[in-house]
Amino acid sequence: MPLIIVRNDITKMKVDAIVNAANKSLLGGGGVDGAIHRAAGPRLLEECRRLGGCETGEARITRGYELPAKFVIHAVGPIWRGGFFGEKEKLASCYRNSLKIAEENGLESIAFPLISSGVYGYPKEKALRVAEDTIREFLAETEADMTVYLVIFDRASLDIGKKRFKEIEEFVGDRYAKSHGDSASYFAKRRESLNRPEYSYSLNNSMLDGANKEVEECCEDASASIALNAEAAFDSAGAAPTPAKPKASANAKPSGAAPSISNIGRTIDELLDESFSDMLLRKIDERGMTDSECYKKANIDRKLFSKIRSDRLYKPSKPTVIAFAIALELDLNETNNMLMKAGFALSHSNKFDLIIEYFIKRGMYDVFEINEALFAFDQQLLGA
Ligand code: ADP
Repeated sequence: MPLIIVRNDITKMKVDAIVNAANKSLLGGGGVDGAIHRAAGPRLLEECRRLGGCETGEARITRGYELPAKFVIHAVGPIWRGGFFGEKEKLASCYRNSLKIAEENGLESIAFPLISSGVYGYPKEKALRVAEDTIREFLAETEADMTVYLVIFDRASLDIGKKRFKEIEEFVGDRYAKSHGDSASYFAKRRESLNRPEYSYSLNNSMLDGANKEVEECCEDASASIALNAEAAFDSAGAAPTPAKPKASANAKPSGAAPSISNIGRTIDELLDESFSDMLLRKIDERGMTDSECYKKANIDRKLFSKIRSDRLYKPSKPTVIAFAIALELDLNETNNMLMKAGFALSHSNKFDLIIEYFIKRGMYDVFEINEALFAFDQQLLGA
């Protein structure tokens, strides 16, 4: 039941339903609405005519016709008028109602654009926050197995904030440069990639190698999407680092090198023999979490969790291990221990690893926040 952020044209998504940022007439318009009607063909407009419009905050379902998606859910977002006219609640209601319709119709995958963030003028960063919060809330509560895609059309939509971006850039740059001995060229390359026009940027091979099959299937134009599943091969180049001493954090639960109570009585051999799956289940117990609390917090699909649970020798991908380490709020030491169980390590010669280190060192354990940063730096995301 994960939330996956992709960069793509929503009309290319092979999902059960795509959501249209429609207007109240439901008779088509510009932006994503126009693109969806063009791709779906005239029969979509015919069906929309029969619906007789839709109120702001509500949604209606039609078939997808020529689209790769089976259905279109038309949601009417609010026009931004400074935020004083209930825009936030109406926007959240668009997402909730669309998800409800998808659930009622037994749909398993749904892709949203950033509703209201175009012609309707809702500030993109705020619109993204509402979208993410509402989808996360829904996913945490629903029993349905649903994968939700948030389709970001342009880089500006996913703005993690200048201050955070700069901080991460410096953190990564310093360490990455030390490990590569060439900081000037790192920043030059980074600036170059940021200046590339919308849509013309493509992914490097290691990211495409890491793309998940399911996501690839949903995103016809794989080069225009950042595909982000954990269960793919992942570039884990680089030597194992010396684990940094964990910093205490306000949020972090007690963890770290000190043996936990449940470790007392275990022999060293037992701990060495412990597989990734064993360690994960032990940590979940030690944290007093339920399985579903853990995999939902990790943004990991229930089916994948079941596989890991039932196969003690399951070989997870690196992002999967990290997603669980984040959900369990492990410090850097323990994260490396968990990674080692699966044959991986965090390295300073890998930007993805450095971004993870940045968040863990600060005791920031929100997978979605981390994913926003990974997305901004064109890295593979956690979870799914
Ligand atoms: P609204 O009127 O609700 O603001 P718009 O269509 O103008 O709707 O824009 C909503 C969002 O959809 C914007 O962030 C825009 O960048 C994005 N968008 C436009 N075309 C597409 C597309 N083909 N696929 C995905 N997102 C799109």
